Amino acid sequence: MIGFVGLGNMGAVLAANLVAAGHPVVTHDALGPARSPAPAVHVDDVAEVARRAEVLVLSLPDGTASEQVAREILATENRGVGCVVDASTIGPSAARTIAELLAKDGIGYVDAPVSGGVAGARARTLTVMYAGTDEACARAEPVLAGLSDRRHRVGDRPGMAQALKLANNFLSATTLAATSEAVAFGLAAGLDLATMLDVLNTSSGRSAATEDKFPRHVLTGRYAAGFTNSLMAKDVRLYLDEVEEQGGPAVVGRSAAAVWEDFATAEPGADFTRIFPFTEGS
Ligand code: NAD
Repeated sequence: MIGFVGLGNMGAVLAANLVAAGHPVVTHDALGPARSPAPAVHVDDVAEVARRAEVLVLSLPDGTASEQVAREILATENRGVGCVVDASTIGPSAARTIAELLAKDGIGYVDAPVSGGVAGARARTLTVMYAGTDEACARAEPVLAGLSDRRHRVGDRPGMAQALKLANNFLSATTLAATSEAVAFGLAAGLDLATMLDVLNTSSGRSAATEDKFPRHVLTGRYAAGFTNSLMAKDVRLYLDEVEEQGGPAVVGRSAAAVWEDFATAEPGADFTRIFPFTEGS
């Protein structure tokens, strides 16, 4: 039995993928069963998931939530869970802390953050990057195979996949913010958005922002990628915190963090693709 805690925009799709792959699944979300995929069983608390499941997947907002759930698992008597797979973006420091907590009670931990959005999760093209000991990864791999068809083990220590995920989201956040400024500049110069995207996408300024987010969400006015600006601001802040702790270069990082913080403060919970109208209006 696989446990799944956190049935938000991403978690609900990942849990549905596990069900579709033929796994028996037990779920829990603090907001209740509305997004639990049939025929998974939704239970009222983490303890009940920890009793029924052997491997437990998390898709939670941040490291505080993941650590809280880890502590609830540890406080559960007669638990069945022997391995926790954390698909949330929480950063390397939180991943190491949680791995150490769980290891004291003999529970394995694999950090397995994901990239590719809710649409990628539905299409099973989501990239799952994961890290952990050989033993923990061996337990996690059949479960990871149920989540997506694209999986990369990137290290043998918990937190290493989180480092790669933060590097990825720093690039994604920066490119989307920079593209928003460049498009606002082009529109003010009299260019048309569709024309700009056509030309950028055969030129050297192309990126996931010009190839995916702008055509699907800005050009259409949908703004429904299923990832909030608050979560993106958290990711860039986590990246910057880690870089500053290392004493690494952070000039662009500081700028990107400030842009996303401003956007998330002005419009908390907005779809992250709305950074374009936010930028254009500011
Ligand atoms: P979300 O805010 O939509 O969902 C989070 C869910 O966790 C909510 O349903 C909430 O009720 C539940 N939750 C929070 N604390 C809980 C607790 N203590 N116990 C039980 N349930 C709890 O977030 P999301 O977009 O689904 O993202 C989840 C994680 O995946 C985040 O770390 C995010 O950064 C990462 N992520 C999301 C996307 C995306 O496109 N949405 C892409 C890549 C990575």
